[in-house]
Amino acid sequence: MSNIESIKAYALENQVPIIKDAGLAFLLEQIKQFNVSSILEIGTAIGYSAIMMAQTGSNVVTIERDPKMYEEAQKNINSLNLTDKIKVIHADALMAFDQVKDNQFDLLFIDAAKAQYQKFFDIYTPLVKKGGIVVCDNLEFHGLVANPDLSNCSRSLRALVRKLRNFRESLANNGAFQTKFYSIGDGMSVSIKN
Ligand code: SAM
Repeated sequence: MSNIESIKAYALENQVPIIKDAGLAFLLEQIKQFNVSSILEIGTAIGYSAIMMAQTGSNVVTIERDPKMYEEAQKNINSLNLTDKIKVIHADALMAFDQVKDNQFDLLFIDAAKAQYQKFFDIYTPLVKKGGIVVCDNLEFHGLVANPDLSNCSRSLRALVRKLRNFRESLANNGAFQTKFYSIGDGMSVSIKN
């Protein structure tokens, strides 16, 4: 039988990257503040953030491409009797639009492959309601996004940081959304759809 503490402990023991406590508290605060009742999450992992969001009373659709993560998430959600509140889609989110396109969401939470944030944003923001929000996690990426000296980092890490910087800039300049950035958790943003 799972409970939320055992799910968190499993994540820590098995190096499953889940949202940090401060980031989660901030996310739940946005859910309350914006009266969110329908959520699309990109990046389920083992269902930790989806479960925490569903426990606010919201309905959550969440997309996960990794088969082991997907199975573990299903197990945890079943065990907490949340199958009527959380639908997990086993797919690569870059190709899952057709499976969710008939829905509209109050919140899009992007928390999957960092290099693809711009693509996830472009694919799924048409499903965000007017006045709804997009929240992104890991936008500071352990302080690397703000660090001017990446000479000790690998080429692939430098490329990833460049993508996150470009994404932040694109968010800041996107006239269809009003975006604020927060140094909470690993760096979060909240974009309100005009
Ligand atoms: N939101 C989760 C939480 O806080 O409990 C953590 C998600 S973890 C940071 C990112 C997850 O996104 C991983 O499980 C990974 O397999 C998944 N992922 C990465 N790229 C993806 C993609 N293109 N489509 C679907 N899932 C993806």
